Amino acid sequence: MSERKPVRHLLGLSGGKDSAALAIYMRDKVPEMEYFFTDTGAELPETLAFVDLLEDLLGKEIVRLNSSKGFDHYLKLHANYLPSAQQRWCTINLKLKPFEQFVGEDEIISYVGIRADEPHREGYISTKPNIKTRFPFREDGLVRDDIIRILEESGIGLPKYYNWRSRSGCYFCFYQRKIEWVGLYESHPDLFEKAKEFEKFDEKTGKRYTWSQGESLDELISRKDEIKQKFSIENKKKNQNNLMNVLLDDDDDDGEACLICMK
Ligand code: SF4
Repeated sequence: MSERKPVRHLLGLSGGKDSAALAIYMRDKVPEMEYFFTDTGAELPETLAFVDLLEDLLGKEIVRLNSSKGFDHYLKLHANYLPSAQQRWCTINLKLKPFEQFVGEDEIISYVGIRADEPHREGYISTKPNIKTRFPFREDGLVRDDIIRILEESGIGLPKYYNWRSRSGCYFCFYQRKIEWVGLYESHPDLFEKAKEFEKFDEKTGKRYTWSQGESLDELISRKDEIKQKFSIENKKKNQNNLMNVLLDDDDDDGEACLICMK
């Protein structure tokens, strides 16, 4: 009779603050934990640097998973239709499939960083019967302030992209707000240019495929002062002057965003 394989404990890092804090929180509770990061090939440099730092802090390898084929391949497969909140083929192909391959048929407990103060979020619930999901922050009642404290006390702090963007994920992610596209333009002009190259105008149908709703990135950036001004007026109304706090609030606000990419 063959011996049953032991249950594997997995914790996926997205490059976001909650999964990072969860890794630190669980480090001594589940010493056999396996950490992984699914790299789409389009991650921000700040995210990659944060994952490297975290690996040193945890003192354990964070396995990098990659899809066997990149974004360009799947874009072609989808007739050059950019992914969107309604057609999120990017997450399925670049994040979920590599994760499910990594898991195989093993019995898995997957740990997800959804907090007690965001009960509306579901996380990635696998349809595979061998993957069970646990939410330790929710089970133990930890909220956003606890997560910030865990990161600060560990010395790692918040990922650096919080200076201009509220979430990890691909540099061209369609979940970005207009102000974050301005942030990408100012922080990483090369990546902004690469994102522009994916936008299309179909002369036959007259249809445009743009990352940001209603305008191309060129059009968006031509109104960058207006976008910045609007953002600053909105935040004054909320009595919020600190950009990082605003972005942290945004991060918590979006129940639609891609948890496996950004949590
Ligand atoms: S970060 Fe955004 S663009 Fe990248 S896989 Fe996730 S949803 Fe898609």
